[in-house]
Amino acid sequence: MFSRRFNNSNKIGRYFYRGFKVKKDQGVNTKVTNSDRALEHFDLHYRPVYKNKWPSIRIALLTSKKTCAVMNNFAENIKFLDEFKSNGAYDIIEKAEISQREKANVQNHDWKNDFSEANEEIVTELEMDHRTSKFLNNNVVELNTPHDSDKILDKEPAEVKEKFNELSKTVNIDDDDDDDRKDLDRTNLYNFVPAETVYSETHMLRIEEAKRSVFTPMDVKVDIVKPRKIVLPFDLKVIGYPSGDVTEFPDVKVDNPHGYLCFFMMDAASILPVIALDLEKGDNVLDLCAAPGGKSLTILQTGLAGNLTCNDLSGSRIQRLLNILQYYIPEEQREHVTVTRKSGLAYDQPDFDKVLVDVPCNTDRHYLLEDVNNLFSPSRISERIEMPTLQKDLLLSGIKSCRPGGSVVYSTCTLSPAQNDGVIQNALDDLWRNTNIDVVVEDLEEITDIFKDSFQFYKNCRFGQLVLPSLSLNYGPMYFCRLRRVA
Ligand code: SAM
Repeated sequence: MFSRRFNNSNKIGRYFYRGFKVKKDQGVNTKVTNSDRALEHFDLHYRPVYKNKWPSIRIALLTSKKTCAVMNNFAENIKFLDEFKSNGAYDIIEKAEISQREKANVQNHDWKNDFSEANEEIVTELEMDHRTSKFLNNNVVELNTPHDSDKILDKEPAEVKEKFNELSKTVNIDDDDDDDRKDLDRTNLYNFVPAETVYSETHMLRIEEAKRSVFTPMDVKVDIVKPRKIVLPFDLKVIGYPSGDVTEFPDVKVDNPHGYLCFFMMDAASILPVIALDLEKGDNVLDLCAAPGGKSLTILQTGLAGNLTCNDLSGSRIQRLLNILQYYIPEEQREHVTVTRKSGLAYDQPDFDKVLVDVPCNTDRHYLLEDVNNLFSPSRISERIEMPTLQKDLLLSGIKSCRPGGSVVYSTCTLSPAQNDGVIQNALDDLWRNTNIDVVVEDLEEITDIFKDSFQFYKNCRFGQLVLPSLSLNYGPMYFCRLRRVA
């Protein structure tokens, strides 16, 4: 009797134990979540690119992000500004302005010294940069055809011409040169898949996904020019805490007299594509993928847009954008804002001075932390495969919607080189092959210089600039690249 009971209880015990263990394995050890899949994808594709920086980027991505407060100029915000500043926060734009001024002073100082030693014939690098950027500032916007640049250059001294050519790094496509192409860096994990192997459809899709996740630099004709000095939007106030300080902002408040919310919380890196737009008073601006509206709101806070069109494909996200406009922007200002709901691909007329193309992307940070509706779920593999093509097509629509002389900013919140520089490369290649549209890439290194106290930038992008998340300045990722439409 004793031994039977012992055996039974032992069986029951074993049963429960195994049951518990199986559950435990599923819940803790073996169940792969969509966020796990996202992390696995990033480990596979980002580690080889960001190398020894990857572990710290990875930790930052998995940790709460830092936010900033974009102050609402249409509400009484002084009280909050003072409160934030007395807590140790600072105005990110103001700090960048100071840094820009300090740099200009240093340059002017050297410039004067160069003149005081003047008789010498040597033209220093510094003088050259100054003169070349002055020349480019005066002329690049007016270039209507690629040949105009030659005419303008003819009037300039030889050193300026030489520097200009150096800055316009041009590589031409030679379609016939297949042998050279073999030597290009075509690094990807699947170069050696044997043709005889039979794969399931899922397997094929995974191979395709891996291929499209890799950025392969090609010999595409790209002119990279130095733009005129960055003009920071005077009215935009963006408050953030310094590096290493993770103080949280209070809940967003209404100011009583007007009833509008006083500040808007977002990732501070989201202001950079707006600054890169180079807004000027009265600009007609298109925000092609605008919802839920953080960047549209930032554009409106600059007070520079004459008209703003906010477009998005998603009805529910458009509703969030409408709510934001209602909570932050007075009715008379909203008259200058048009909200449309259609595919960005439908825009193709050059009606706008400035176009922001903030595309759907891997949204790295979001999908690492949010399992529901996760892009990395196995059922969304086709969407992932098509993502860079959709991004390129949206960028092409943005370029077509921009008037010659205007600028287009392409941005994402992913570290994926295929969705960043890769999309710029493919869009430029497409333009040169299929249209008469001419664009140059503008080198926005100045932004990385003047904002270096507030963001950690990656130095090795080919065309754009990239904010890297880090534990001390946990903003981003945010990639942005400005294209100037020349013709
Ligand atoms: N710019 C927004 C902001 O700052 O709040 C974020 C935009 S989010 C990165 C990308 C947006 O693209 C999503 O709202 C998505 O609905 C939209 N989208 C996706 N496909 C689109 C398409 N074909 N045309 C226009 N918008 C699209």
